[in-house]
Amino acid sequence: MLKIGSTRSLGELGTVGALAFGHWRFVGHDLQTATLLMETALDAGMNLIDTADVYGLDWGGTAFGQAEEQLGEVLAANPAMRDRIILATKGGITPPVPYDSSAAYLQQAVEDSLRRLQTDRVDLYQIHRHDLYSHPAEVAGTLDGLVDSGKVRALGVSNHTPAQVEALTEHLRHPLITVQPEYSVANLVAQRDGTLDQAMRKGLVPLAWSPLRGGAVVTGEGIRTELSVALDSLADREGTDRASIALAFVLAHPSGPVAIIGSQNPERLSSATSAFEVTLDRQDVYTLVQASEGQALP
Ligand code: NAP
Repeated sequence: MLKIGSTRSLGELGTVGALAFGHWRFVGHDLQTATLLMETALDAGMNLIDTADVYGLDWGGTAFGQAEEQLGEVLAANPAMRDRIILATKGGITPPVPYDSSAAYLQQAVEDSLRRLQTDRVDLYQIHRHDLYSHPAEVAGTLDGLVDSGKVRALGVSNHTPAQVEALTEHLRHPLITVQPEYSVANLVAQRDGTLDQAMRKGLVPLAWSPLRGGAVVTGEGIRTELSVALDSLADREGTDRASIALAFVLAHPSGPVAIIGSQNPERLSSATSAFEVTLDRQDVYTLVQASEGQALP
């Protein structure tokens, strides 16, 4: 049987749930609903909260910063909640440029995130996407300075190639502790492009974004029919649903990913923990990989 586990260690940041609550779609809620979603996620063990300064431009939001502002309002109204969460945010996407990881930009971006989040520290600060026109030494110097200042406790990157991670870590004094690739049973790129291999080599925790491929794994839209059939077959055997099998698949990778789920539905947030009850063996995961790719492995 493959190990799934319900928690992960993020080093100095402590232990987090293997399921995290993602805030890409956390916009447009009233304070009561936003607070209920946060309480539901925390009750389900999702103490890692993943947001970004740019969240708010999609899913009914209209402006940069809206998701951070919404979380900030919840934290201001519930001060005890701040110490119950590991707060992860990101910067570096600057529509319409699209990317900026210059020192001046990132330093201001962190100040702006802290203000919107109504807190004095970000637990995990992640470069959202690699800026092709910032030298990694400059980015590293900025990130080290943010940790030295106490505004940021730990560092991560998102959507970086392994070579980009290498170039950055070469210059960093403080360690990277996470990478954040898209990864799901319907998107196996991180398994094959060296991202998860590098995570295992360097001891980075992968934070898998869109672990249900934005809901497509559940609806079946845009994914191979044979993958839906394979998920349904395992769901029948395990007495659960497609979402739980798909989340268990992500968690079963030997790199020990955290799956960042994006549902804004309290019932679905609570029931996501049924992924921890799923038992998958090597045959099961290879069946899913081959169904996902539509061809047998050699
Ligand atoms: P996801 O969990 O793969 O998809 C969530 C979507 O699936 C929601 O719209 C949800 O709708 C729907 N859904 C349908 N059936 C569901 C079920 N049974 N259980 C749960 N959800 C179901 O993740 P995501 O929202 O695409 O992304 C998750 C997080 O990853 C984001 O919030 C963000 O933190 C992170 N992310 C990072 C990047 C990056 O570039 N670093 C990019 C994208 C996302 P309901 O709300 O109606 O349940």
